[in-house]
Order: sequence, then structure tokens, then C-alpha cells
Amino acid sequence: MDHETAVLKAQEIASRVLVPNAGDNDKAGRFSSDAVTALGEGGMLGLLLPVDLGGCGLGPRTFAAVVATLAEADASVAMVYLMHILGTATMSAARPGAAQAVEAVLLDIGAGRHLSTLAFSEAGSRSHFWAPLSRARRNGHGVFISARKSWVTSAGHAQSYVVSSLAPEGTGPTDSTLYFLPAETPGLSVAGPWDGLGLRANASAPVSLEDCQVPSDHQLTDDCAGFQAMLEVVLPLFNLGTSAVALGLCRAAVAATASHLKTARFEHLGQSLGESLPTLRAQLAGMQIDVDGLAARIDDLVDHLELPDETTMLRVLESKAAAGDVAIGVTSAAMRICGGAAFSRHLGIERLFRDAHAGAVMAPTGDVLREFIGKSLLGMPLF
Ligand SMILES: Cc1cc2nc3c(=O)[nH]c(=O)nc-3n(C[C@H](O)[C@H](O)[C@H](O)COP(=O)(O)OP(=O)(O)OC[C@H]3O[C@@H](n4cnc5c(N)ncnc54)[C@H](O)[C@@H]3O)c2cc1C
Repeated sequence: MDHETAVLKAQEIASRVLVPNAGDNDKAGRFSSDAVTALGEGGMLGLLLPVDLGGCGLGPRTFAAVVATLAEADASVAMVYLMHILGTATMSAARPGAAQAVEAVLLDIGAGRHLSTLAFSEAGSRSHFWAPLSRARRNGHGVFISARKSWVTSAGHAQSYVVSSLAPEGTGPTDSTLYFLPAETPGLSVAGPWDGLGLRANASAPVSLEDCQVPSDHQLTDDCAGFQAMLEVVLPLFNLGTSAVALGLCRAAVAATASHLKTARFEHLGQSLGESLPTLRAQLAGMQIDVDGLAARIDDLVDHLELPDETTMLRVLESKAAAGDVAIGVTSAAMRICGGAAFSRHLGIERLFRDAHAGAVMAPTGDVLREFIGKSLLGMPLF
């Protein structure tokens, strides 16, 4: 599959499976297993995996385009897909001692039969996912892990979880290790419901680990190398992907707003809203300017990830911080422009508005990213 085919496939799945169900799934807080099945059958679950593992061998440019396309139809599904791609990327980068055990899982992903996700955030350290409170304990054949994971996208639906925990002998707060846990691991359970304001259909529930036994060949990183994998493997793709989710939401907001301005009418004036009110046209134009600015920023980040230089990490941090604000701003403008019709949920715009608020609070949060950017500009250590 090449870039164009992958984007066309994402568009086809979005219009056939996501668009017809997004509103109802949001209302019911229902995870879209149909969407995951369609993504698997369409060859999209192994988008970044090498071809010899059944993947598409594609890169960040296609990833961003596919995620934005899915998010335009249903941001919950886009986030499920994004977290799966991150779990897969972490497994692909596994240390040699885990490579053999993980290869069967990667082949399943390439064949579209396996959904994964990340379980990093913990109840105690909250959005500071780089500092898990749980600590793995050695048991002779691997480790035991007990942890309270606070939000895990696709909880109860994924076939596996990539889990962080402090290394048994770690001495500092970021001395974590990453592990692969199949969903059926004894002691692993979904520990509560997911009833979010937005992304209601992505099952981001808490997950509890009680003395979960993890064999040594399921240890994905070297001891204490989890933090490095978070920064080098997960963070660039996560920030790119969440920026792409924001872009998809913004595009949907512009389209829904333009459609409303063309179709809703002041019948006593014989004009549509758009024909009648220059102020609404100006606000719509402002939305479009922000969306195109975000798209350009994402293209720039993709260029950086394809050809990294010393400014790439700054772009990685900036992109998600900016995208979170743009998504909230553009969808807020859509709510205001479309007035009572949007407020009373006639247009689907309020789902975009609610979904848009998740990006800024998903870690690293927009505030934390600004803190990192400010510190790095001043030459201060980030952690
Ligand atoms: C829809 C959704 C899906 C999620 N999916 C996953 C997942 O799949 N896997 C996973 O591991 N986690 C996931 N999370 C968790 C997420 O990444 C964050 O950990 C979580 O949203 C943090 O919420 P909190 O209340 O603990 O934030 P808190 O840490 O309590 O933060 C509260 C406020 O303080 C600010 N703040 C915190 N630290 C600083 C700082 N140093 N400087 C400035 N401001 C700061 C924050 O920006 C925020 O505004 C998900 C969250 C959501 C909402």
C-alpha cells in the first residue's frame, strides 16, 4: 500500500463505517468494534510496520493523513487508532530479548487481527506519565507488576497493553521499563467505566494490575530504558497524531459551519445566514485560516520527523501544544457561529467541541509542553 492508497482506504472506512455511527456511539459512550474490524480488514492496523511483518511500511506523513481523515469523521476512533499505532511502534522497537516473543503479535497486527494501546498514566503521578509510582518486582522468570493505570484508551477492547512501571532496581522517578501485557493476563482488569465529556466512544477507562506476572521476554525495553523509549519512540508520533486528530476535528467544524451558513435561512429577509451576516463570514474565514495554519504546522513536523535536525524536538513539543489550542478555538468559534442550532445539538458540532477538549489534557498536556518549551529556551533541564 502506498500513501495515496492508504488515505483513500481511510476515507472509504470513514464514510462507510465511522460517519453513520459516530453520533450514536458518542451518545451511548459505545466503543466502535466495527471501526477496528474495518481498519484491520483494510490493512490499516500495520500502517507503520515493515512489509515483511505484513505491514504497509509507511511513515509519519501517511500516519498523520490517515489519523486526520479518521478524526474528521469520528475523533474517538482516530484516538483508538493512534494509541494502537503507538503500542505497535513500541513493540517494533523492542530490545533483542523480546523481539522473538513480540514478532507473533506484530504479525497478527500486520494481518489486522490485534489492537494494542498504551497504559502509562497512573492515578498517583497523574499527567506526569514519565514518573510511574508502580514498581515491578523480580520473580525469577520476569517481574510482577501491580499498578493503578488511570486512563487507558481502548480499555477492555485491546488485545494487549504496553505498560510502564518503575524498574525493580531503578533509583530515580523516571527509571521506568516498558512491558507487553496480553489482555488475558491474570490480574489485569478494567477498573471502572468511561463516561468522558468528549471522546466518549474510545473507552478510556482505568485499568488495574494486581500482581500481573510478566515473563522476561515480554520486557520491551532494557531496565530503566522505558523513559528513553517514551521520548524517542512514543512522543514524536503521539504529538504528531494528536495534532492530526485536532486537524480532523477542525476540518469537520469548518465543513459543518459552512453547511449551516449556507442552509439555515432568515426567511423574513429571504437570505441564508451566510448571505445575510458579514460577521459570520469573517468568523468562518478566521476558522479556515487557523485550520490551514495547523495543517502547515503538521506538514512541517512531518518534514522534521523524516529528516530530523537539532530543532526537531522543539517542533514535536510545539505541535501538540498549538494543535490543542487551535482545536478548542476553532470548535468554539463553530459553536458560536451556529448559535442555538449548535447549542441544542442539532448539528453535531457540539460533539466536535467536546472531543476537541481532550487533546490539551492528554499528557503531555498543553501546559506541560509550554513548560518544557520555556525551560528548553532558557537552557534549563526539563526533568
Ligand atoms: C480521553 C483520554 C484518553 C486517555 N488515554 C490514555 C491512554 O491511552 N494511556 C495513558 O497512559 N493515558 C491516557 N490518558 C491520560 C492522559 O494522558 C493524562 O494523564 C490525563 O488526562 C491527566 O489528567 P489529570 O487529571 O491526572 O491531570 P493532572 O496531572 O491532575 O493535571 C491538572 C492540570 O495541571 C496541569 N499541569 C500538570 N503538571 C503541570 C506542569 N508541570 N506545569 C504546568 N501545568 C501542569 C495540567 O496541564 C492540567 O491542566 C487519557 C486521557 C484522556 C482524557
